[in-house]
Amino acid sequence: MQDSRRVALVTGSTSGIGLAIAQKFARMGYAVALNSFEPETEVADALVSVGSGETRYFEADLADPEAAFGLVGAVIAAFGRLDVLVNNAGIQKVAAIEDFPPADWDRIRAISLDSAFHTIRAALPGMAERGWGRIINIASAHGLRASPFKSAYVATKHGVVGLTKTVALEAAEKGVTVNAICPGYVWTPLVARQVADQARVHGMSEEEVIRKVMLAPQPTRRFVQPEEIAELAAYLCGDMARSITGSAISIDGGWTAR
Ligand code: NAD
Repeated sequence: MQDSRRVALVTGSTSGIGLAIAQKFARMGYAVALNSFEPETEVADALVSVGSGETRYFEADLADPEAAFGLVGAVIAAFGRLDVLVNNAGIQKVAAIEDFPPADWDRIRAISLDSAFHTIRAALPGMAERGWGRIINIASAHGLRASPFKSAYVATKHGVVGLTKTVALEAAEKGVTVNAICPGYVWTPLVARQVADQARVHGMSEEEVIRKVMLAPQPTRRFVQPEEIAELAAYLCGDMARSITGSAISIDGGWTAR
């Protein structure tokens, strides 16, 4: 690996937003570490789609704190360092709080919030030592606003925004920026999978869920595309974004303007 080439880790990068970010970074010439909980044989299509640059796949189930911490160590061992960390892995569950399975609460929090704590505490010292780094946490419009039937997700994403602000303050003089990206609804497998659940809890058809639940709070009335999130992540990695830190940046078609 050329010493000048940046190394990026994108968690949960075999699908949706994470995959789009990994593809963008690869096109920018970064060495890219991809991750999910699945064995490498199951994610071959995603790896191929990232292109022929220097990419490697790291299997790690981020619900496991040791695996999350160890993932960063494995990437540094393979590439020599880590310059850009994108905490993107996340899952969703839609249910009323009285029906919300405690195991799903734990798993949602573990994968999106706890894993970000563990990857950041593993990654920040090396970034600070070199005086340059970028940490991007994929939060959500639900890090800033609530919706019913998503207690674990909304609480977790608010937590991700709080973690982002705290680490930004700690890293402010070290050349490391820490930001949250807060997308509205992006059409990805995660959203496609929840349409049926939303239809059940709201007592609507799936078509009505898309129109009246998902796109209703999004004034543009269209889904954000994963590539739009990837462009924002790329901008945050530029040197001209060095003063953007501790921010929760909305990319939500106007949702949080209300
Ligand atoms: P997705 O389901 O398409 O992709 C999720 C990725 O996370 C996959 O690569 C999956 O393998 C990985 N993953 C899941 N569990 C994991 C685990 N235990 N360990 C490691 N990897 C794991 O989802 P997406 O819509 O692209 O969502 C990505 C992120 O963006 C999530 O944090 C989500 O909350 C956030 N987000 C999504 C939307 C949206 O509308 N799609 C909106 C706001 C925020």
